[in-house]
Amino acid sequence: MSDYVKELMALVKAKNPAEPEFHQAVYEVASSLALVLERHPEYRKAKIIERVVEPERVILFRVPWVDDQSNVQVNRGFRIEMNSAIGPYKGGLRFHPSVNLGILKFLAFEQVFKNSLTTLPMGGGKGGSDFDPKGKSDMEVMRFCQSFMSELFRHIGPDTDVPAGDIGIGGREIGFLFGMYKKLRNEFTGVLTGKGLNWGGSLIRPEATGYGSVYFAAEMLATRNQTLEGKNCLVSGSGNVAQYTVEKILDLGGKVLTLSDSNGYIYDEAGIDREKLAFIMDLKNVRRGRMKEYTEKYKSAVYSAIDPNADFNPLWNHKADCAFPSATQNEINGKDATNLLKNGVYVVSEGSNMPSSIEAIDQFVDSKILYGPGKAANAGGVATSGLEMSQNSMRLGWSREEVDGRLRTIMKNIHKNCYETANKYGTPGNYVNGANIGGFLKVADAMMDQGIV
Ligand code: NDP
Repeated sequence: MSDYVKELMALVKAKNPAEPEFHQAVYEVASSLALVLERHPEYRKAKIIERVVEPERVILFRVPWVDDQSNVQVNRGFRIEMNSAIGPYKGGLRFHPSVNLGILKFLAFEQVFKNSLTTLPMGGGKGGSDFDPKGKSDMEVMRFCQSFMSELFRHIGPDTDVPAGDIGIGGREIGFLFGMYKKLRNEFTGVLTGKGLNWGGSLIRPEATGYGSVYFAAEMLATRNQTLEGKNCLVSGSGNVAQYTVEKILDLGGKVLTLSDSNGYIYDEAGIDREKLAFIMDLKNVRRGRMKEYTEKYKSAVYSAIDPNADFNPLWNHKADCAFPSATQNEINGKDATNLLKNGVYVVSEGSNMPSSIEAIDQFVDSKILYGPGKAANAGGVATSGLEMSQNSMRLGWSREEVDGRLRTIMKNIHKNCYETANKYGTPGNYVNGANIGGFLKVADAMMDQGIV
C-alpha cells in the first residue's frame, strides 16, 4: 500500500467510523488512483480525492407509516448526494433491512465513477431505507413509499437528483414513489427512472443491467477471440439483474447452471432454459415466492439452503467458465474466489455492486482472468436510465432496437475505455485500474474546472 493510500485510508476511517463497506470501496479506488497521482500532481494539490470521498450532501429522515394491523411503524430514509461535477445526482434507491449509512455511501461513491464511465452527463448518488418490502402487502408498500417520498421530494428533481430502483425497488415501488412526487409537486417530470412504459419509462430499462453485464463479458471474451457460445455460467441472485443476465446469456448461446436468493441456491445441470426462466420471473416478480419452489417444479435441479456458519458460498464451487454475481455486495470472498479459479472460471462480470471482497479481487487480478468490476460491467442499468432521461426531456420514446443498440454501443465504449486506460497506465488487462482511473479522470477534470466548491 503506498503512503498516500495509507494516509487517505486513515483519514477516511477516522471520519467515517463503523462503515466497513465504504472503507472497502474507497480503498479499492484509491489503490488504482495512486498511479494517476504520480502523473497528475495537480489533482493532489487540489485535494480532488479528499473531496471525492466526502459526500456533497447527506439527507437522513424519519419514515413513519401504518401497517395493515394499524400499527405505527418507523423506518429510516436516506439520500446520499455524492458528486454533481458532471451532472445531476443519479443512482438507485435500495429498500432492504441491511441498509445503513455506510452501505449507501459505498454505493454512492461507486456510482460517481460508474456514471462517468457511461459517457452520459450524470453525477452520483444513492439512497433508500431499512424498510423490508418482503412479506408486505401492496397497500403497505404503497403507504411506505408515499411516506418516504413526502420527505424525499424536497431534495430531488429532474435537474437536481434523479433516483431509480435497486434491491427491493422495482416497477411497483417506482410507480408509488412517482405518483406521490407528482401529487406533491404538481408536475409530470422525469424525476425517477425505471418508470412504467405508459408514463415515461424506457423500453429495455428493466433488462439493461443484466444485458449490459453480459455484453461486457462478451467484449472481454472478444479480446481473446472467444464468444459466450457453449460457455457454462454461474449466476447468483434471482431479481432484476439476475433474470435478464440469464436471458442474455441464453441469447448468446451460453448455458446457465445456478440462481439464488437470500435463503439458498439451485443448481440445474440441464441448464436454465427460457421456459424455466419464465417460471422464475413469475415466481419472483408476480408470486413473490422463494427459489426453493424451483425444485418442486423441476425435479432434476438441486436446492441447497444457505448455511450461515459456512465460510464460503457453495454456489461458486461448481465447474464453469463464467461467473455473473448478481445479488449483493461481498457475495464472493477470498475462499469463493479460490474455488471459482480452481473450477476453471476465467470470466467474472459483476452485475451486483462490489460483490467481490478485496481478497477475491486480488486473486482475480493476479491470475489474469477476464475480471470486469461492477462499476464498469453493471453500468448498463444507469446508462439506460440516462437514455430514459433523454427521452423524457425530448418527450419522445425510442424503439426497443434503438435503446438496445445504444446500450450495446455504450457497453462497448466502456469496455474500450477500461481496456485502453489499463494499458496506458502500465497494467494491461487490469479492468479494475481501467474502470477506476477511466471513471475518475472525467470527474476530476470537471472538479478542477469548477473551482473549490
Ligand atoms: P432485486 O431486489 O431485484 O434482487 C436482488 C436479489 O439478490 C434477490 O434474489 C435477493 O434475494 C438477493 N439478495 C439481496 N440481498 C441479499 C443478501 N444480503 N444475501 C443474499 N442474497 C441477497 O435487486 P437487483 O437485481 O436490482 O440488484 C442486484 C444487485 O445489482 C445489487 O447489488 C444492486 O446494487 C446491483 N445493481 C442493480 C441495478 C439495477 O438496475 N437494478 C444497476 C446496477 C447494479 P431475496 O429475494 O431473498 O432478497
